[in-house]
Amino acid sequence: ETDNDSSRRFLLKLSGEAFAGGGGLGVDPDVVHKIAREIAAVVRDGAQIAVVIGGGNFFRGAELQQRGMDRARSDYMGMLGTVMNCLALQDFLEKEGIDSRVQTAITMGQVAEPYIPLRAIRHLEKGRVVIFGAGMGMPYFSTDTTAAQRALEIHAEAMLMGKNGVDGVYDSDPAKNPDAVKFDSLSYDEVIARDLKVADLTAITLCRDNGLPIVVFELLAEGNIARAVKSEKIGTLVGV
Ligand code: UDP
Repeated sequence: ETDNDSSRRFLLKLSGEAFAGGGGLGVDPDVVHKIAREIAAVVRDGAQIAVVIGGGNFFRGAELQQRGMDRARSDYMGMLGTVMNCLALQDFLEKEGIDSRVQTAITMGQVAEPYIPLRAIRHLEKGRVVIFGAGMGMPYFSTDTTAAQRALEIHAEAMLMGKNGVDGVYDSDPAKNPDAVKFDSLSYDEVIARDLKVADLTAITLCRDNGLPIVVFELLAEGNIARAVKSEKIGTLVGV
């Protein structure tokens, strides 16, 4: 036993966009390495970490649909994109000396295990990071919803949402409105009533109906993942 993080289990949702670094598209290895170092540190402290990564740095189904593609097919492209992010994170976790397993909702035996919840929990108990890829394997869903569902299924105590370029939830878009006010905490119903951009509605209602707290924070600020895991006051807490 290293310290009091031992056996605390979290689902970390990482923005796909952050993985692109400044480039917008694809994977910036320097960014992924930085994130892997931070995850490695909290795992060494004894926390159990499962990860869901978005795919916005490759494809979003809804955007391809707007440009004339079939929605379901473009959603599958989006899901496949998330798997590349998973493999990149796995690689840098390995370089940090942390064991990990990628489990995908679409089977692809050469690169990942299939999603097997009980096995995922076993990996976590052994100190391995489990990275869930390919979303839920179903078109019309998001990786936010996937993160909430996986968090519930593995009995994580909270969903930690690392965002790209924003340090919490605001009453309006801080990039557009300099007077935007950040919330320290919020209820699920406030998020829904005010249409705040935390996660999509499917994800929010899933969290609300099952009492899963959400912590929204800036992913790339040094030490933030550790702060979120230690339940330090950071970003915005959505709960109650
Ligand atoms: N996706 C899907 N089903 C899922 C998860 C993801 O169809 O269960 C697709 C969907 O097209 C989505 C894309 O994968 O736009 C990438 O995920 P997301 O948009 O959630 O990534 P993020 O915005 O978090 O980077």
